[in-house]
Amino acid sequence: MQASQRIQSLTVSGDDGWGLFHRAREMMAEGIDVLELTIGEHDIKTDPRILDEMHRSALDGATGYAVVPGLPELRQAIADRVTAQTGVPTTPDNVMVTPGGQAALFVTHHATCDEGDRALYIDPYYATYPGTIRSVGAVDVAVPARAEDAFQPNRAALQAAAPGAKSLLINSPNNPTGVVYTADTMNMIADVTKENDLWLISDEVYDTQVWDGAHLSPRTLPGMLERTLVIGSLSKSHAMTGSRLGWIVGPEEMIEHAIHLATHTTFGVPAFVQYAGIYGLGLGPEFEGKIGAPFRRRLGLAEDMVAKQQVVHLIPAKGAMYAMLDIRATGHTGTSFAEALLAEEFIAVMPGESFGRAAAGHLRVALTLPDPEFVDAFSRLLAFAGRQAA
Ligand code: PLP
Repeated sequence: MQASQRIQSLTVSGDDGWGLFHRAREMMAEGIDVLELTIGEHDIKTDPRILDEMHRSALDGATGYAVVPGLPELRQAIADRVTAQTGVPTTPDNVMVTPGGQAALFVTHHATCDEGDRALYIDPYYATYPGTIRSVGAVDVAVPARAEDAFQPNRAALQAAAPGAKSLLINSPNNPTGVVYTADTMNMIADVTKENDLWLISDEVYDTQVWDGAHLSPRTLPGMLERTLVIGSLSKSHAMTGSRLGWIVGPEEMIEHAIHLATHTTFGVPAFVQYAGIYGLGLGPEFEGKIGAPFRRRLGLAEDMVAKQQVVHLIPAKGAMYAMLDIRATGHTGTSFAEALLAEEFIAVMPGESFGRAAAGHLRVALTLPDPEFVDAFSRLLAFAGRQAA
C-alpha cells in the first residue's frame, strides 16, 4: 500500500533539516554534556500562575468539548489585544483560536490555496513552511532574501515570483534571522500583494519580541485588511510552547471558512488551555516584556563578543530569540561548521541550510541558555571559528 504523494512530499529529501538537532539530543540522552542552542524554546517554564489557572479551570469542569472557534472570552481578549496593538478595530468574529501557530499556518494556507496554486514564502524561513504549504496541495515557492540586504526581502525577487501566485507568507520578527522588517519593506510587500492580488499570511508569533521601536503588522497598512491573515501564538510571548495555543486574525468570511476546517480537523482547543491563555493575556505587556528580556540581553552579549573578532559576522537582529551568524569566512558551510562544532566542542547550533538556500554559510544560534552558559558556548563558537579560518 502506498501513502499519498501529498503526505510523502512533506520531507522531500528524507531530512527535514533537523538532523543536527536530533543528533544533539541523542548525544544528550547518552549522557554527553551538550550546550544546546538549537530549538526556539525558552530556558524558563510556563509561569506557575498560568498553570494554576489551567488546573483550576480543569477542576471546575472545563474538560469537555470546547466550542470550535475558541471560547468567546478568549476571542474577545485576542481581538482587544490586536485592536490595542494595531489601532485596527478587530472583533471576535475576526478571530479563530487554533492549537498553536503551526495549526494556523496550515489553516491559512488551506483557506487561501487550491491544489497546484503557487504559495510564496521568504527564504530563509521557519523550517515547517514549505512542508505546510505542500500539505495542502499547493506548490511552495521560496523567494530569496539576501544576506547583503540583512535578509530584508527585496522587491525585484518578489515581483519576479508574484505573478499568478495565490499567497505570500512573511514572518517578522523573523525566525531564523532575528531580523525585523522595516516599514519600507512592509510597504513594499503590501504593494506587491495588492498589485498581484495575493493573500498575505503574516506570521507574527514573535510580535512581543521587538527590540527597537514597535512591531508593525502589515494588516494595518492601507488596503491590506481584506487580504491579510495574521498568525499569533502564546508559545513565544508567554513561554507556553507546549500548551499549543495560537490564533488567526482576518476577514470574517475567512474566519468562517477556517472554523469549518477546524470542525473537520482539530475540533477546537482544550478549554482549560484557553482559560490559561485568557489569564496569560491578562498579565499584560509588562509580563510579555519580561519573557522577552533575556533574549534581548543575550543578543547584546553576542554583539559585544562578535565585535572583538573579525571572522564571524552577526546579521543585525532586532527581535525574536535568535542570532544569525555569517561564518563563510571560515571556509565551512553552515552544515559542516555545525557538525564540527558539535563533534569537537559539544555545542549544538542550527546550520543556516536548514532554513533555506539563502541562509547557506550561516548558523542560527538560539538565545536560549542562561547567560553564563550562553557566554561560554558563544565564546567557544567564536574561538572555534577563528581556528577554522586561520
Ligand atoms: N512560526 C514561527 C516563525 C515559529 O518560529 C514557530 C515556532 O517556532 C511557529 C510559527 C509555530 O509556533 P507554535 O508553537 O505557536 O505552533
